[in-house]
Amino acid sequence: MPFGNTHNQVKMNYASDKEYPDLSKHNNHMAKVLTPAMYELLRSKQTPSGFTLDDVIQTGVDNPGHPFIMTVGCVAGDEETYEVFKELLDPVIQDRHGGYKPTDKHKTDLNSANLKGGDDLDPNYVLSSRVRTGRSVRGFCLPPHCSRGERRAVETLSIEALASLSGDLKGKYYALKNMTDAEQDQLINDHFLFDKPVSPLLLASGMARDWPDGRGIWHNDTKTFLVWVNEEDHLRVISMQKGGNMKEVFERFCTGLTKIESLFKDRGHAFMWNEHLGYVLTCPSNLGTGLRAGVHVKLPNLSKLKDKFEDILKKLRLQKRGTGGVDTAAVGGVFDISNADRLGFSEVDLVQMVVDGVKLLVEMEKRLEKGQSIDDIMPAQK
Ligand code: ADP
Ligand code: MG
Repeated sequence: MPFGNTHNQVKMNYASDKEYPDLSKHNNHMAKVLTPAMYELLRSKQTPSGFTLDDVIQTGVDNPGHPFIMTVGCVAGDEETYEVFKELLDPVIQDRHGGYKPTDKHKTDLNSANLKGGDDLDPNYVLSSRVRTGRSVRGFCLPPHCSRGERRAVETLSIEALASLSGDLKGKYYALKNMTDAEQDQLINDHFLFDKPVSPLLLASGMARDWPDGRGIWHNDTKTFLVWVNEEDHLRVISMQKGGNMKEVFERFCTGLTKIESLFKDRGHAFMWNEHLGYVLTCPSNLGTGLRAGVHVKLPNLSKLKDKFEDILKKLRLQKRGTGGVDTAAVGGVFDISNADRLGFSEVDLVQMVVDGVKLLVEMEKRLEKGQSIDDIMPAQK
């Protein structure tokens, strides 16, 4: 066992109710699901690498709510977390992923030829298109729990594997610790790089330990294919470009991701995956495909409709964020609109939802611009 969790045994000197967290002001999925009885049942357990119930829930205890999204409030420390703490995580997953049951099986479809359309989103409204996912490398603890050595090993393995990509996907790795502040800020402002460890969600989960050690970004020369190393997941694989050609973005995403998977396999490291959860990732909200396909899109008129806008997004199974990332609010009517689901739908299904949904949103925006009604094109619940 790499880490013995002796401190958890010390806690057992106190009755379960003396250790139970105060969740009275909380609004996240973990807080909705956790009960004193469940805490008592699970608190003495640990995964083979020593991840405990308190490690799972700490981020949700320290972050009662989020201003813009309903957070999950828990994280995994290794592949086994989802099994060892299933009494908590199964209902959290069910709650977050639209009723996805412990017996359900996830489907994967990374064949971009199955996407219909998607190459003609109006670039006057759709400023940029992006598809990202996470991948975890089997045999290493996940970012909330990995040691410095493990994290550096994931980084070394990633540098070696990614160095074999060629053609349009040929690129270079840039370690965070070798970058100047100005270089880092430029990449963040241009939407290519993850933020500095300022998010309370990242901090409270333990993912920011030893920052910037072992973190970095790999990208091709044109910055249309990028891999983040050791942020929230071991790997975040991203395909993006300006304008509204989501089809091209998704094609590059599928090709590159499939190549990366085989490069890791060649080196003896499969990605964490199982039939039920799909790809296993740090945050339960990302399980399944881990896929977030999104556009930066101008919707100043539609977004003024507030509740109606929210309702339309919900019906289309889409989510909105600000363009500076998950912790930001929209400025000037420009939103990051992406799929709300990750699990129970295939990659192609999710990108299709975004392509079709964004097309409709842009049509609505154009109507409103001209003072016309959108009542006859209101969507049904998907
Ligand atoms: P995620 O964690 O899903 O990758 P975040 O909301 O944390 O997304 O944002 C990460 C970065 O990616 C931010 O800089 C954000 O502006 C950028 N980004 C997200 N979607 C797009 C998009 N469609 N076009 C350009 N940049 C994007
Ligand atoms: Mg993020």
